[in-house]
Amino acid sequence: MSSASPYAALFEHLALGSLVVLPNARAARTLRSAFDRFKADEAQRGLGPSAWEPARALSWQQFTTGLFNDLVLSGDESRLLLNEAQEHQLWREIIADAQPNALPSTDSLADLAGKAWHLASAYNATQRIAATANTSDTRTFAAWAADFTTRCKKSDVLSLAQLDSALLAHLQRNTLIAPANLHLAAFDDPTPSQSMLLDALRDSGTIVIDHPITNSGCPMSLALGDMGSQDAQPITTPLRASIIAPTERDELYLAARWIRTYLKQHRNENKSVAVLMPSLDDDRAQLELTFREVLAPELESIQADLSSAPWEFSTGIPLATLPLIQPILELAYWVRAPLSLDRISALLLSPFFGFADDRNLAAHFDAAVLRRSSLLRPELDLTTLLTLADTKSHVALLPAWLRNVHSQITRAGNLQADRAFAEWAEFLRGLTGAAQWPGERTLTAAEFEATRAWDSVLDLLSTLDYANHRVSLSAFLESLDRQTRITSFTGPSTRAPVQIMGIEDAAGSAFDVTLFFRATDANWPRSPQPNPLLSWQLQQQLAMPGASSAATIAHARSFTSRLLERSGAMLFFSAAENADGHLRPTSLLAELEIPTIAPNDLIPTPPPVAPVPIEEFADTAPLPPLPSAEIHGGSSVLRLQAACGFRAFAEFRLQAKELDEFTLGLDAQQSGQLIHRALRDFWAIVKTQSQLRSLSPEDRALHLRRSIDAAVSRNLQLHDTWDEAFVALQRQRLFTLLDRWLLLELERSPFEVLVHEHEDRIDVGPLSLEVRFDRIDKLEASSKPGDSFVLVDYKTGNSGHPNQWDGERPDDPQLPLYALAYQPSELKALTFAKVTTEKMKWLGVQDEPGILPSARANQNPQVDLPQLIEEWRNVLTQLANDFAAGRAFVAPKAYPKTCEHCRQRLFCRLNPAALQNIPDDESTEESDG
Ligand code: SF4
Repeated sequence: MSSASPYAALFEHLALGSLVVLPNARAARTLRSAFDRFKADEAQRGLGPSAWEPARALSWQQFTTGLFNDLVLSGDESRLLLNEAQEHQLWREIIADAQPNALPSTDSLADLAGKAWHLASAYNATQRIAATANTSDTRTFAAWAADFTTRCKKSDVLSLAQLDSALLAHLQRNTLIAPANLHLAAFDDPTPSQSMLLDALRDSGTIVIDHPITNSGCPMSLALGDMGSQDAQPITTPLRASIIAPTERDELYLAARWIRTYLKQHRNENKSVAVLMPSLDDDRAQLELTFREVLAPELESIQADLSSAPWEFSTGIPLATLPLIQPILELAYWVRAPLSLDRISALLLSPFFGFADDRNLAAHFDAAVLRRSSLLRPELDLTTLLTLADTKSHVALLPAWLRNVHSQITRAGNLQADRAFAEWAEFLRGLTGAAQWPGERTLTAAEFEATRAWDSVLDLLSTLDYANHRVSLSAFLESLDRQTRITSFTGPSTRAPVQIMGIEDAAGSAFDVTLFFRATDANWPRSPQPNPLLSWQLQQQLAMPGASSAATIAHARSFTSRLLERSGAMLFFSAAENADGHLRPTSLLAELEIPTIAPNDLIPTPPPVAPVPIEEFADTAPLPPLPSAEIHGGSSVLRLQAACGFRAFAEFRLQAKELDEFTLGLDAQQSGQLIHRALRDFWAIVKTQSQLRSLSPEDRALHLRRSIDAAVSRNLQLHDTWDEAFVALQRQRLFTLLDRWLLLELERSPFEVLVHEHEDRIDVGPLSLEVRFDRIDKLEASSKPGDSFVLVDYKTGNSGHPNQWDGERPDDPQLPLYALAYQPSELKALTFAKVTTEKMKWLGVQDEPGILPSARANQNPQVDLPQLIEEWRNVLTQLANDFAAGRAFVAPKAYPKTCEHCRQRLFCRLNPAALQNIPDDESTEESDG
């Protein structure tokens, strides 16, 4: 290991306790970890001690900050060195003061200003910012920069960007003691400010030793065969090659298969493989999916702990996006303002709050209370949610942690008042404690690290108190939001052999193999991106990075050359095309004389995998008997049994029902309910058709408006003026609709409304179904003796037609079921009352002409109702028997229509191909029925 390591020369210095400085923190971390592996290897072979001092490998920033801290300790420096968050806050204040009409993007502008300031400082150009400003943007920044300098001086603080020049000044004043030796490793492109400081250190007597890192000790060839194939012959991969795969997906799979083979061949050799991605954020998910599938299929489960994976991302993701951190941020935002119901729902079910028992209750609360609350706007604040739970007598369903959180907030006093950052940070810590975050289960190492990162963010925000400002909760949460988004979280290193990173993150590191993905002209070299707040001429003159095409091409060329020097082998992967069209490999490959090889010459295509034969087994276990014959949900069980036995089984025996969705305003169900309730209240007063006929239009309108008002106030909760305005519109809409409808009531034969929304129970076969009749009318005159009734079912949408009552698998057996509650001779008609803005009408069947209006020949036809009821009784009894016997066949009545809105699709595993094998006459028989 030691002889092959590109860091071998440095290990000797590190072993002696020398300080080695590298260009960035990642390169320093890589060197420290390589040193540990080297020492462990020595210890294992009995060539060295079993314990050793950690390597003193630091990034340039860690090194210079250490020198500055020494100056503070010695009393030669009094300034406070601003951290990134403090500096950002200062830029924010300057921009906000300069633009009193707060810009919506102050944070982005502050970020941009901070970058421009750091760039100018690194190129010793801060004094030239104002003189070279020649556009409105650059002049604005020049003014901000001047203000920044003044405020730093006044507050006795120092920007991190100015650290090099501050140390230089101390060296010149002899207040900084220069170190005797300084080892620089892979320090390829020092900035002008770094070069000046290094020169000054040399002048002060420091011996600066440069260590270029090359990887000449790596093997000269890679003998590979596809380890998955027994027939494949070993092949030799060139040390440098470009491979073009047909598609971007193939590119990832090809590289993953090559890595798998390489790692197998070099097992136990501590090989390092770098995977470089130009746009890691975009490709991260797809790359991880491919690696899970090819490198570690045992980790394909989304819940798998990846700490044993042979790869790790050394470029992090924003802390705010971690599943562990998201809920605590959401909870914090909920304290500030109402949260949408879907976000509240996610919070209630979060595995990172409270205990498992809480979550079961909360899931019930979510499905049965929250999703069924009549809110016009689907959002709630915490207090209103607790009130909702109280009024619905569902307090016991609320998780204990939520009540704790509420108490914590109450105890915290006035949250509208401004507080110090540290006080808000403590408030949030109290909140997380009350919510029992991060939950009861044992955390993975990465999750544990995330809790520490969260603590560090709160600590960092507390340092913003250096300026003695007090801020509102909103302002604190804005800072928290930004800080968790810019904090890159990588988790604890698993020392995996495959390190995945962005291209620039590889600066200063060495690897046995480097795989450069997406190596196309569009991605590498990068497009030039001059800083918009510094004059372009200044950036050109000082050759700042990204200032011009020539500069970016030159940078990419030298960067790629150094990657080649520091990699034992380097493979460039690209795709021939993607969704945007044809792609070309980066032109740098030709310049650097990298040969192109065919994918098959890199690694042979594996033989197709033989399909696993399907093993069939008979499922003969009987179902347990139906726990109770009493079924809630009315005719739905029969409707679903008719549509598909499996769906009825899933929804009524396994309770696998879809959750109600949150909607803005009234959903179709709430809207329908309002119509039902308003008509119920109206007919409670105006009991008969003759009474209705006797009302003047004004009196009819008065009764109707009162009924609508009563229905609205009973069913909707109004919280503010938006709600009131919305409901006023709804009232008028309902009035217009129902007033028109009442005129249609006059077209029927005389009736009395007997009951409205009447609950009952109907026995059919072995089932006892709980039903609710919309309305039952008693006819005032009939040609036959005895009482005569009409069953009315309101329909406020497009559904509902009598032909849906027909056949052995009726689409809508509701009214046929209700008909079974009557003696055949008593029932004279069944009808839908279609209360809709379009096509308002009565639609049903009648035993005698004239009971329902018949404007057309086929509207409300006369039928032999007793005979029809008998047929329905047989059909419905058969369906009830099938359900009770557990006949749960996956047999949709008319595929794909029946399955269109079914949420059991994943559960039932319907195979549409199997349906196509059913002979036509068999498959149409039921759907026509
Ligand atoms: S998706 Fe179709 S086949 Fe599957 S349960 Fe639903 S209705 Fe039945």
